[in-house]
Amino acid sequence: MRKEERVNEVVKLVRHASTQVWKFYEIKEDKILLRRKKCPRCGSFMAEHENRFSCGKCGYTEFKTSIKGP
Ligand SMILES: [Zn+2]
Repeated sequence: MRKEERVNEVVKLVRHASTQVWKFYEIKEDKILLRRKKCPRCGSFMAEHENRFSCGKCGYTEFKTSIKGP
């Protein structure tokens, strides 16, 4: 299978899954990159904030790398 065909297959799968999900993906060469973090609790996409990720579905919050103390 050619590179382009492979990408099209994934695109079809992702598109079929959900149009909402689609915008969280990015196609780079022959790879589909997930741009958003997924909630480890419920599997939904998490919203990215300045210092944390939060899940709008179950309320799970994950803070980004901890503060560097002395
Ligand atoms: Zn969640």
